[in-house]
Amino acid sequence: MQSPKNMQEREKVQMPKSKTVFISKTLSDVFYHIKSVNEIQLLAGCTQLKKIQDKSVSLRMIPELNIIDRKERHIEFGSAVSIANMILTGGQKLPVVLAKALKSIGTEQIKNIATLGGNICAKDFKYTLWAPLLALNARLEIKNQNETLFIPFNKFTGIPEKHILTKVRIPLDEWEVEIFKRVGPSNTINELSASFAFLADTQRGMIAKIRIAFAGKVFFYSPEFENRIIGTRLPLSAKTIDDLIDNAKKIFVEQNTITDSELILKAQFLNLLRNAFEQLM
Ligand SMILES: Cc1cc2nc3c(=O)[nH]c(=O)nc-3n(C[C@H](O)[C@H](O)[C@H](O)COP(=O)(O)OP(=O)(O)OC[C@H]3O[C@@H](n4cnc5c(N)ncnc54)[C@H](O)[C@@H]3O)c2cc1C
Repeated sequence: MQSPKNMQEREKVQMPKSKTVFISKTLSDVFYHIKSVNEIQLLAGCTQLKKIQDKSVSLRMIPELNIIDRKERHIEFGSAVSIANMILTGGQKLPVVLAKALKSIGTEQIKNIATLGGNICAKDFKYTLWAPLLALNARLEIKNQNETLFIPFNKFTGIPEKHILTKVRIPLDEWEVEIFKRVGPSNTINELSASFAFLADTQRGMIAKIRIAFAGKVFFYSPEFENRIIGTRLPLSAKTIDDLIDNAKKIFVEQNTITDSELILKAQFLNLLRNAFEQLM
């Protein structure tokens, strides 16, 4: 059996300007590098990274991070699965909000390289898949050398230090109303990009279940707001919609510190929400 040191020598790829990328083939090898190299950078598709640090480790070749496992009630994707493979293998069975979000990401070339994990793990921005995964109540599997954490997306605040995202489990529940929209430029990302996901189920003329998420540089997610809506009779009157929009506006302002240039995001979110409420019959 090879020692981790020998594996490290064999897998080391020298890059121009003496940058080193370790290409790991197992999770234990990644954890070895994380433990032994100070501040090592994790690389997936590298489509989001502006700068490759001096020492980094690639997660792309690890079989465990490339699994796709579909069960009756959920589908599980390894964090290194590409956006293109999620679309291809998820097929018709993926929830509409997720399928639409995946198709909206980048160009065909970007979809082939960009990964699910990279979309979720950025520190400074909530990328396109955030809102749908939050609304769908996805669950993240996050590991380090010693522990495996299972974190519901609504409790996820970032990858803890020296951990990596390994899998994402997505429930395959069916929803009567499924809306996904993006604001900002199409197929690319800038400061004014954000995604909106809205899911609702009705029962006996009332709203039985509802999930609302908006994410980018700003963020809206409120279980209290959703609970307030559950049980409301349909169709929603103009006055009920106005009251709900006023309430959502207050929550949005509490949840975000927005600059003048981001005010448009608040207006766009409230318009999307109003349109979604108007679609409930
Ligand atoms: C032309 C272009 C268009 C784009 N359009 C879109 C778009 O429409 N929507 C969108 O959301 N994005 C878009 N992007 C950004 C990017 O392609 C995606 O967000 C993509 O999903 C990032 O994945 P990646 O594998 O390339 O991540 P990387 O760039 O490799 O990594 C991103 C971050 O996540 C960390 N990371 C990656 N995997 C893990 C893991 N398993 N555990 C812990 N940390 C991890 C990395 O350390 C890094 O900090 C675009 C990019 C380009 C260049």
